[in-house]
Amino acid sequence: WWANVQKGPEDPILGVSIAYNKDTSPSKINLGVGAYRDENGKPYVLECVKKADKKIYEANVDHEYAPIVGVAAFNQLAAQLALGEDCKHIKEKRIATVQSISGTGALRIAADFFARFLKGKTAYVPNPTWGNHNVIFADAGIPVKSYGYYNPSTCGLNFDAMSKDITAAPEGSIILLHACAHNPTGVDPTTEQWKKISQICKERGHFVLFDFAYQGFASGSPEKDAAAVRMFVEDGHNIALCQSFAKNFGLYGERIGAFSILTESPEQALNVESQLKILIRPMYSNPPVYGARLVQAILKDKELTNEWRSEVKGMADRIINMREQLVKYLKKHGSTRDWSHITTQIGMFCFTGLTPEQVDRLANEYHIYLTRNGRISIAGINSTNVEYLAKAMAAVTKD
Ligand code: PMP
Repeated sequence: WWANVQKGPEDPILGVSIAYNKDTSPSKINLGVGAYRDENGKPYVLECVKKADKKIYEANVDHEYAPIVGVAAFNQLAAQLALGEDCKHIKEKRIATVQSISGTGALRIAADFFARFLKGKTAYVPNPTWGNHNVIFADAGIPVKSYGYYNPSTCGLNFDAMSKDITAAPEGSIILLHACAHNPTGVDPTTEQWKKISQICKERGHFVLFDFAYQGFASGSPEKDAAAVRMFVEDGHNIALCQSFAKNFGLYGERIGAFSILTESPEQALNVESQLKILIRPMYSNPPVYGARLVQAILKDKELTNEWRSEVKGMADRIINMREQLVKYLKKHGSTRDWSHITTQIGMFCFTGLTPEQVDRLANEYHIYLTRNGRISIAGINSTNVEYLAKAMAAVTKD
């Protein structure tokens, strides 16, 4: 049956981990993986998650199915966390929220829903973007194009290209925006730039989809990280929203996320929800409950929520601190390059500006592994390896 099936290519990020695992050097560093690591390079389980875990265990819960839309209380808390407790759409029941298989699953529901109800529209994603965006839309049968985003010569935002391309997109296009901590570049628009993008989207009648995978993880403040999303809603956009709780709650493997669509009326919200259910039922029937129970237990409890806030801030602060340390040691080791983008970029990732050849040298000569586009996961850096990394980066970038 399968004689005609050819071997497909390896995922480039997984390839980095495979090479890292094979390396026997004690100084090896993995800067490919997009998961938080603590000061000792170890996965981090949040204390608030451990406490929620205990509460759930002690409550002696059953393991019945969730409804198709998932755990209702979780859905409500998730939407509130992103949109704010004062969000009119939530208060007026003008929002349809379903639990999803983390951020990826939310995007997949979004893409399949658009394929049905926004037929013929093209989705525009930033260039570059998280690799899965292109594939998810393409697999759902939605044409994907990109808008200008990153400027390699400044390692910053190419706002001219971004605004021009979004303006030039056919009226009523789907515009995907990273809510904060853009992956892979770490480059976010400023408040004024967000304002302009919101205006352009309005003028062009575009539909805006926010991918919100890092709430709290970028600045340390869940509210600050939600500023762009909330601004668009304030401006009158009935957005769609994909949320992930992988990074900010450290619940990667629990696959917990949410997908919301903001609508004009409670009736529209119910209609949209009914169609989301029709779409989800033949995909996976209903989502797993455990991650939803954990997040719900934390967000419905003031004390645990405060503990989460301080822990997510702790992760964000460690990352910000590592950015500063890296720049400091690059200077100490004689690099005269302008590395200021390392500290102006935000979130888990940094687009270093290293060329593929320099990335190869880091792997071959220094046992340091990252994707060939020069993206490093700051989470893989700690005070033990930061100087070694800086020294290696200074060496491979010397003219
Ligand atoms: N969107 C972006 C921009 C991401 O970086 C990620 C995680 N790499 C996701 C969505 C989804 O991740 P998950 O499915 O693990 O929630």
